[in-house]
Amino acid sequence: MPLNSPWRADFPALAALEAEGQTYLDSAATSQKPRALLDALHGYYLGGTANVHRAQHLLGERVTRAFEASRTTAARWLNAESPGQIIFTRGCTEAINLLAYGLEAQFHAGEQLVVGAAEHHANLLPWQQLAQRRGLELVVLPLNADGEIDLTQAAQLIGPKCRLLAVGQLSNVLGRWQPLPELFALARASGALTVIDGAQAAVHQRPDIQALDCDFYACSAHKLYGPEGVGVLYGREDALQRLNHWQFGGEMVQVADYQHATFRPAPLGFEAGTPAIGAVIGLDASLDYLAGLDPRAVATHEAELHGLLLDGLRQRSGVRIVGAPQVALASFVVDGVHNADLAHLLGEQGIAVRAGHHCAMPLYKQLGLSGAVRVSLGLYNDASDLERFFAALDLSLELLQ
Ligand SMILES: *Cc1c(COP(=O)(O)O)cnc(C)c1O
Repeated sequence: MPLNSPWRADFPALAALEAEGQTYLDSAATSQKPRALLDALHGYYLGGTANVHRAQHLLGERVTRAFEASRTTAARWLNAESPGQIIFTRGCTEAINLLAYGLEAQFHAGEQLVVGAAEHHANLLPWQQLAQRRGLELVVLPLNADGEIDLTQAAQLIGPKCRLLAVGQLSNVLGRWQPLPELFALARASGALTVIDGAQAAVHQRPDIQALDCDFYACSAHKLYGPEGVGVLYGREDALQRLNHWQFGGEMVQVADYQHATFRPAPLGFEAGTPAIGAVIGLDASLDYLAGLDPRAVATHEAELHGLLLDGLRQRSGVRIVGAPQVALASFVVDGVHNADLAHLLGEQGIAVRAGHHCAMPLYKQLGLSGAVRVSLGLYNDASDLERFFAALDLSLELLQ
């Protein structure tokens, strides 16, 4: 079966990599970029750069307009109520750190922050460190055998002391959707704030913020066929007002003297310093590109490829898939083979996959694994990519087993 991606040609790097004999199966780490983004970046830098929100000259106004248009596009893409709810950060990691610092004053010793057991370090360590600073308890929700947060245990663990629940919608290791509506119902009953780490999820299912019904949502442009260096943080209006400012400097200030200052509200009050202007403008093009695709066609293509990936892995003896992935990726281990050795041999054959703990060390420790090899798919991958992967896997396993 050919199973070609109708979108592959939109990504010039895919042809370049193919010509080099490289097969890219690491889109969960970062995505390749569509021509629409490259054109937007080219256009911005060729047209003349300027800083945003401060210049009075024509170029400054033009660049500020393009920058703010990207905020409007991001708000529309997320189905947020208004562009003012979108804060541009340097990535999902920075967005969650912003929350951990910005919300710090909301919490008091003895209260609880709650996360899932499969969180990426980006949605674990900021809360862990906040808990240490404030004398809070960090509660970790256990997973069931499939890798979903166990709702029975969650109902026992999310109690009246819970002040915040932060969950990754889709684990970058397990590829499993978390039961957010049920979890958020528990959190709301405790009056807790809710945070979604959407870094892995957003590219596979367009987020609908109003349906997700969370207080905060964070994701990274570079995993959305967008540029590096930009994250998107959405906040519900009343939740944004509970944030304290965290990074201080230019553009976020209202009035300053030597001893005191007052600060702007969100979003600009949380965008201290010069932002990644070109990248924010590029994100607009990437989101436009994504919005122009037929979501059902993309989902069908990704599901068919994912099925091929899982079938192929299951057919090979000694290969064990970690958890029960539902979308776009599979982490696996091979009996008697170290994941780093396997990824190294695959790499030598031009297969780009990721080995190790995938920024989720506590999860791997709990699973009793030192790491795994992860294959992850983008909409530009073809069945031919998986054929090359499996041929390389078979050769590697012959050498290693
Ligand atoms: C990649 C990822 C992050 C961190 O995103 P950055 O772009 O590295 O800041 C957080 N959570 C999950 C689930 C991820 O996959």
